[in-house]
Amino acid sequence: MPELPEVEVLTRHLRPLLLGKTIRGVIVKRAKVLRPTTPGKFRRTLLGAKFTGLSRRGKYLRFQLDGGAAGGRVILVGHLGMTGRMFLTRDPECWPVHAAVILDLGGESFIFEDTRYFGRLTLDGSVTEKLGPEPLGGDFQPATFARALRRSRQAIKVRLLDQMLVAGVGNIYASEALFRARLSPKRAANKLTARQIARLWKAIRRVLFEAIRWGSTVPLNFVGVKSDGLFYFGRAPGKPDFYEERLRVYDRKGQPCVNCRRPIRRIIQAARSTFYCPRCQRG
Ligand SMILES: [Zn+2]
Repeated sequence: MPELPEVEVLTRHLRPLLLGKTIRGVIVKRAKVLRPTTPGKFRRTLLGAKFTGLSRRGKYLRFQLDGGAAGGRVILVGHLGMTGRMFLTRDPECWPVHAAVILDLGGESFIFEDTRYFGRLTLDGSVTEKLGPEPLGGDFQPATFARALRRSRQAIKVRLLDQMLVAGVGNIYASEALFRARLSPKRAANKLTARQIARLWKAIRRVLFEAIRWGSTVPLNFVGVKSDGLFYFGRAPGKPDFYEERLRVYDRKGQPCVNCRRPIRRIIQAARSTFYCPRCQRG
């Protein structure tokens, strides 16, 4: 499931490809992904609009467009859900079976594919307004982070998944950050010391920064269904383990810890898997 780094890499990849392009046609195949926007409103608003910006907020992509039928500026918000993908193709034969939305850009198409339809491509931007600070931005400060943690008795791993605490951290990077910070995922958020919180703050930033840098080095050569590079997972074609190799605990149940060689343990917290080293993460 794509988290902040994967979405950041995708944003950087799509931005130069989309800027300046005008939407000449809109095909909606799965209206569910637009919700609460209706297909009619979606089409009317976007037809004739030109892409003028693309940024990321948490796990969301924010496409900025100008000059559509409505006249003014439009923000289109995208979320990849579990398995969503966004890419451009010049070949109509590359339109995948699960294409949810296709935007005709004249000679090429922007595709939003979502096999499980948990993703979104909508004109409703309210969800991004409720997000907490960007972990790699200046608003994410140890002092405010500490205050927010002190108010909660939830296990720290579960707390980190709250997008209002910090935007963009999901199941993978929550486990990874706790390992780097040598903290038990089961520790109550309000029981962490100031020193531990500072360590966690730093670890969150480091794992995300490294993942972006790593993902950015993967060649983004996806051209449609024929060559599936799965670039948003940072996985190179034909190298299924490319991405996992840099993760230290996530999805490594039973494998030796990179520090102490004890087996990595998997537990369930709030219906999600947590991976950790019981020896290294005793803080
Ligand atoms: Zn260990």
